Amino acid sequence: MIFIDTHTHLYLREFKEDRDEVVNSALDKGILKMFMPNVDGSTVNAMHALADRYPDNCLPMIGLHPTSVKKDYTRELSKLKNLLDTRKYWGIGETGIDLYWDKTFAKQQEESFRDHIILAKETGLPLVIHARNSFDELFTIMDKENDDSLTGIFHAFTGNKEQADHIIGYGFKLGIGGIVTFKNSDLDSVVKDIDLEHIILETDAPYLAPVPLRGKRNEPAYLVHTAEKIAGLKKVSLDEIAENTTRNAVSLFNVKI
Ligand SMILES: [Zn+2]
Repeated sequence: MIFIDTHTHLYLREFKEDRDEVVNSALDKGILKMFMPNVDGSTVNAMHALADRYPDNCLPMIGLHPTSVKKDYTRELSKLKNLLDTRKYWGIGETGIDLYWDKTFAKQQEESFRDHIILAKETGLPLVIHARNSFDELFTIMDKENDDSLTGIFHAFTGNKEQADHIIGYGFKLGIGGIVTFKNSDLDSVVKDIDLEHIILETDAPYLAPVPLRGKRNEPAYLVHTAEKIAGLKKVSLDEIAENTTRNAVSLFNVKI
């Protein structure tokens, strides 16, 4: 079985001590591709270093995380943008709007999100969207800006069926991670009713480890617990989950496995 972790922050310092082990244990489990969304200017070097060490497996993306968007974000974003000319990136992100932690720069977050949409259209790369307490704001922008040239993911999706259908209407994928295994989440009942062709898997490591590892540092190898949970919800084999979600990710990122 082959899996793809479409969202992992493996370059962060949480993996400083055992990064190689973590990558290898993912590869042992068949997780052959690990897509790495960028956070901000402080994370690019570590991300590039990991991508250079595992060029077939650890695949970098470029963007500015909404919680790193401050008043003068345009300067940082344009530096990140310039990197697009220097090497291969597989996606634009992560971007989006996060109104959970801090609303101070809500307006800048919206502007940054629009900038990332333009970049995704220009490059033809998939857009990786982070949504936290912000579906209404994101949908308002996306309803206006989405067109056939745009593809992407609503990552760590936690919305309801209506919001899922809205995203599917954009032609975007739903990134499903550890939250689907949490007892207090309604995501399981939502995912049950979503066709597999719209779902891709992710860990968001080091965050959001699935049950039975909830609360621990998450890592790509744990993706399998999320896949097992979805297999149970949809009453299909793990094989079928692997096959479908991998196919979806391969076509979205245009990657060879
Ligand atoms: Zn993330």
